[in-house]
Order: sequence, then C-alpha cells, then structure tokens
Amino acid sequence: MSLYKNFSLGFYFFLTIICLSCNRGPYASTNKSYKKQAKQFAKTIQQAPLKDSIATGNWIGTTNFNLRKPNFVIIHHTAQNSCEQTLKTFTTVKSQVSAHYVICKDGTIHHMLNDYLRAWQAGISRWGNNTDINSSSIGIEIDNNGFEAFTDQQINSLLTLLTTLKKAYGIPAANFIGHADIAPTRKNDPNVTFPWKRFADSGFGVWWGDTTNVQVPADFNSLQALRIVGYDIKDSVAVIKTFKRKYEQIEDKSSALNDADKKILYTLYRKFE
Ligand SMILES: [Zn+2]
Repeated sequence: MSLYKNFSLGFYFFLTIICLSCNRGPYASTNKSYKKQAKQFAKTIQQAPLKDSIATGNWIGTTNFNLRKPNFVIIHHTAQNSCEQTLKTFTTVKSQVSAHYVICKDGTIHHMLNDYLRAWQAGISRWGNNTDINSSSIGIEIDNNGFEAFTDQQINSLLTLLTTLKKAYGIPAANFIGHADIAPTRKNDPNVTFPWKRFADSGFGVWWGDTTNVQVPADFNSLQALRIVGYDIKDSVAVIKTFKRKYEQIEDKSSALNDADKKILYTLYRKFE
C-alpha cells in the first residue's frame, strides 16, 4: 500500500513537472524580455518632463492627454516558409525585425506587440512626406512565401482584424496600404495575388472605379498622379511596377503605361485630388 502511495505521489510530481514546462512554452523567456522592455518604456513615459527634452525649469503637467494612436496599417507577406519560422524570427534579437500581428495559414492571429508601441516592420520607406512609418503604423504579417495565394482563413482573419483596428483608432481607408507601396524599390509584399479590391470594397484601401467613359486629359502626368496617391516616385520603374501589381494584379517587367493603365491611374488619382 505504502509502496503504491509513494509511486502515485511520484507519478503526480512527475506530471506536475511536465505541466509546468508545457505552461512555460517555447516563448516564456522572450515574453519575459518583452515585459522587461515594456517596463523600461513605461519609465520613460512617466518622466515629467522628459529628461531629453528642452528644460525650461517651468514644468507644469497638463491634465488633458492620452496615448498617440497608429494612423496607418501596413500589410506584408512574411516571405518565410511557415508561421513558426516567422514567430521565431520576431523573437530573435539578432533579426531586428518585428510586427504587431502575424496571421498563419489556418487563420490564427498572433498578437506580438501592443498597438501603441513601435514595431520594426516598415524599414526605409516613404508615403507622401511621412518617412517614419514605423512610428505611426501597425504592421501585419501574413504567412506566405511570397509566391503562393493567401488562404481564405487568412483573408477572413485579416478582414476581422482590420475592422477592429479601423474602429479602435479611426484609421482612414486610404491608410491601409502594402509594404511595397511604401518601399517600391525594395519590396513586393503583399504579393500579386493579394485581393486589394475586396479589401478596398470593405473600407481598407482605395480602389479605382469604372473606366468605361473615362477620358484621360492629354496633359495627364502619370508620375505626378502616383505622387499624389502617396508614392515616392524617385524610381519610376519600381513605382509603376508596384502600381500594376496592386491595381491590376499583374507582375509586369515594363515600366510603360498603356491607355488602359493610364485610365486606371487617372480614375484612382481623382479620388485623392
Ligand atoms: Zn514586408
């Protein structure tokens, strides 16, 4: 009897050890590191006045303020082979990249960073005159190797997530954009299969309309139109390729715009005038 009791106690002890290690999970130490870093930033926010700001000696704290909000959403594909690989990349210090959300092929959404904090996802980029897009945006990475179609589950999860973010932070439709839009010389994500029209129809992004009766003026300047939409037009070849990939879903090597392309661009640009 006592032998049996000892055995069962030992067995339960063994089970407890197993469960403790499974509760810790593979990301226990990186979660701890996250909390430590967030605490450090909380200390910065609590400084009154901020030590690095101009010291006038006349600090008086206002009573009226809140947190700064994200005003853009940047959509990416991971260009990696699995969700697990991406989660690992974003929890490895040496990669120096991250995103707020990662959406796996089965539609699972992993939230990796508080929306009010700055992820390292946009890199060197520009949209209009905004050159620090990480500071004003939320980055969403979709698990995709860069060449495959996005799954229905991913599209549905993304629509749900964008609906929540748009409502929470009052983000305008035109500010839901792709990584390639803000970095056309370096990036092509989300890839050519991404259904931008479907997203624009749901209020995330801007789409061109019916071009049947559109007359493009003779003096229409395509590059200036792209600039008004938001593109950095320094590299015209890259920006026109990005435009065709997004608005016509074609991977076109040429930087030429035919009459049909111009009608689409003209119709789009009129929405930004
Ligand atoms: Zn990207």
